[in-house]
Amino acid sequence: MLPSPRVLLSIDFEPWFALTRRYDKLENSVERRNLDGGFTLQAIDPILEKLGSSKISFYLVGEIADWYPEIPQKIIKAGHELGLHCQIHRSLVGMDELASDIRASASWVKDYGVRGYRAPMVGMSEAAYSLLEESGFVYSSSIYAPAGTLLQKGKVWEIPVSTLRWRRGKGTYIAPRQFTWGLLLGGEYPYGSSLSIGLMGKTILGILENELKKGFSPVLFMHPYEIVRPPHWVSRIWRDVVSHPLLWPFTWNKAEFLAAVLRNFPVSPIGTYLDDALNVRAKV
Ligand SMILES: [Zn+2]
Repeated sequence: MLPSPRVLLSIDFEPWFALTRRYDKLENSVERRNLDGGFTLQAIDPILEKLGSSKISFYLVGEIADWYPEIPQKIIKAGHELGLHCQIHRSLVGMDELASDIRASASWVKDYGVRGYRAPMVGMSEAAYSLLEESGFVYSSSIYAPAGTLLQKGKVWEIPVSTLRWRRGKGTYIAPRQFTWGLLLGGEYPYGSSLSIGLMGKTILGILENELKKGFSPVLFMHPYEIVRPPHWVSRIWRDVVSHPLLWPFTWNKAEFLAAVLRNFPVSPIGTYLDDALNVRAKV
């Protein structure tokens, strides 16, 4: 039994340059704040406005809460779920690096009663689940698997970003699980990623409709710079896109896609869905 179907919409709320991996080179938080140039603060109100009365999950890069404490406050005040994306946006698969990253955000995670985690680059390691459990997280949404998949790692639930299987047969899914070309060639398409939304937004609206009809609740993620265009966007990112063409679909404006999702489907935060799923299970 699954809870009532809805789109589990999430925004990985990060600076525009997280996309271009410039985090890897900038060691200093003040430098990073300067490079953000106030974009994250400028983006939050228009995004909240576009969401209207719909409630979703925001996974926040923790140092943004240090730069602009009003951002997590605005998210909570508007009734959305606040989760952690990581403290500093880097690929965090090493145990020590991940542990210090989670420690760095511990105080605001506690202050805001954060329960959910989305790994940067949707890259999760085995060790991460026990670290999340120790830090009091209830769930993660940090792997890819078909909608309707709900996995348990110790006391931490994993609610994957959605993929579509177009081959028959029941797959078995375990966490962690990296999305590879092998999975893609094996017939699994990660339609929940913002890359896919950029490439084929209209098709994804059709997939969402079908998934909901089947009773599933698909998990999608987007980024603030895909909904509100950063100032001087083209001049800021063209060099990165030329050297990494796969970044291109991430730079497209997806505000229309967001509006279409909100207009056509029920949405809810991932944490709310988890509570509903566990209630349904408890009743069976
Ligand atoms: Zn990210």
